[in-house]
Amino acid sequence: MQPCGLDEVRKKMIQDNPSLQFEFDQYEQQINQIAAAQAMSKSTAITDTIPVVFHIVLRWQHINNLGGIQGIIDRCKSQIDALNRDYNAQNADSVNIPAAFKPLYGNAKIHFGLAHTAPNGAASPGYTIDTVTIAGFDPMAQGSYGSGYICSDAKYAAAGGADAWNTAKYLNVWVVNTAPNGTQGGFVAGIATHPSMINQLPAVELGCVIHYGTFGRREAGNQYFINNLDSGRVLVHEVGHFLGLWHVWGNDQGGCTADDGVADTPPQDVATQSYCPTFPLLDNCTPTGNGVMFMNYMDYSSENCQHMFSNGQVAKINAAANNSYPSLTTHPELIRYPIVTGVSQVAGNAPAFTVSPNPARNTVMVNVAENNTQLRKISIINNVGQVMNAITAESGRDIYAIDVQGLAAGMYFVQCAYQNGVETQKIIVE
Ligand SMILES: [Zn+2]
Repeated sequence: MQPCGLDEVRKKMIQDNPSLQFEFDQYEQQINQIAAAQAMSKSTAITDTIPVVFHIVLRWQHINNLGGIQGIIDRCKSQIDALNRDYNAQNADSVNIPAAFKPLYGNAKIHFGLAHTAPNGAASPGYTIDTVTIAGFDPMAQGSYGSGYICSDAKYAAAGGADAWNTAKYLNVWVVNTAPNGTQGGFVAGIATHPSMINQLPAVELGCVIHYGTFGRREAGNQYFINNLDSGRVLVHEVGHFLGLWHVWGNDQGGCTADDGVADTPPQDVATQSYCPTFPLLDNCTPTGNGVMFMNYMDYSSENCQHMFSNGQVAKINAAANNSYPSLTTHPELIRYPIVTGVSQVAGNAPAFTVSPNPARNTVMVNVAENNTQLRKISIINNVGQVMNAITAESGRDIYAIDVQGLAAGMYFVQCAYQNGVETQKIIVE
């Protein structure tokens, strides 16, 4: 498994169009200046919210590997949890950061939330599912649609993929099977567009791509994951690229001249390949002292020994989030869904929930979002009041998938019973 394919694609883009080297360098200079200025002027850091949509573009067998629809719902949640853990300096394993690097442990203060309002204003569970028949998407090979870089085929419905949601307002993550024929001969765990590429790539291609076997965070022993890539950190790394970071060793493998443009990550020769080194790890570029920062999310060390972004990286992340994507952090309302019209509110302050899709055919998604601790039961009731299906609430769960395949076509009611009342919405089953 090759951890990430961005360096190779960047190299290929420059080969294909040599003037890009200048563009990329110019972006780098500008964003570093902004980051430096903001780091000095930032007094009280605010938490920014980024709405996230996952586009699941997989064969049915792969969806089943993930535990079916319910498995996907669970992984969306655990993946968001993993992002929030590492982008808010809440990872418990930060205790393993060596004392010498501890003062550099950065908090990006970015809150990620599933996008519960779709671009057309409809309620959404925060993901889309498109089933494909092709084996996978190759991040290294030219695609047939769009730019041809970074799994572009997966990003177009016309090519069998999933169209992006407005990339100015949503972080789009495509969850695919990356094909095993990249330039280094292995699967690529993830790849992302970098903000220096914004002017080079169609806007509809901006975002991250991850292999489905790295999607989410392990919550149970029997869940399918690629070995040792089960803590959600492939996407943590790819979002790092999406928000302007390069690998800690720069863009080259070998040599000390290319750097990551971040002052507090020590110069580093090559990637730390999928193992947990002992501190200090010295190399050609930092041969003395504390060595290289192998516990950084932007190195290739094993996931279980990655523990930090540095303060310098955090400044760059925030500069990119606010300057390269000016609308990405200004729509926190998209992680919620407005009060649904037509809801009969039995209890005085009964909270709203959302139902999608409506009309429904196979599965109905019920999202209780903010009110997940008050929910007791969800029932599907037919038009003469018979309970056709009922689910007991699990504390803290936002989204429930309810099977309606066995129901005759017609009108039904979804009823959420809360601690303090019930609330009902109509649905049509086709
Ligand atoms: Zn990478």
